[in-house]
Amino acid sequence: MPTYHLGAKSQAELQGIHPDLVKVVERAIQLTTQDFSVHDGLRTLDEQKRYFASGASKTLDSRHLTGHAVDLAAYINGRVRWEIIPLCNIAEAMRMAARELKVPIRWGGCWDELLTDSDAPPEEMIHAYQARRAAQGQLHAFIDAPHFELPRTEYPAPAPIATPATIT
Ligand SMILES: [Zn+2]
Repeated sequence: MPTYHLGAKSQAELQGIHPDLVKVVERAIQLTTQDFSVHDGLRTLDEQKRYFASGASKTLDSRHLTGHAVDLAAYINGRVRWEIIPLCNIAEAMRMAARELKVPIRWGGCWDELLTDSDAPPEEMIHAYQARRAAQGQLHAFIDAPHFELPRTEYPAPAPIATPATIT
């Protein structure tokens, strides 16, 4: 089994990220069957506003703003890829790493159940989440499979970087 390492750009993206999440990512790269890179860590409010405006994000209250979230992209043949199967393989490695380190992780493939609480394969988690949302009348559930975050319940955000008045 190949072993992978985080490249310099990935290391740079982890700057300012909560140490518990950094530990999980650093362990996941050792366990994963799918190479990955850290595509996005900490974001400024301006960056988040652009993601929100483009539809790439559904919130201005993102965990990326406080260092509680990372986006992991598959790295295949020297290219960054976003297909769902390799992203699910990364999610499997993140779950293994997080359980080993006893850090709860919420995943963008299934927002309503923690990745670390489920034993289902990540692809099944996506389908089950979509089915639950569809049952609630939302036919196009927002799936963000590269996204991993520390849950707010266990890791409440510190004072926001921007004052609430500016997040409108
Ligand atoms: Zn994200």
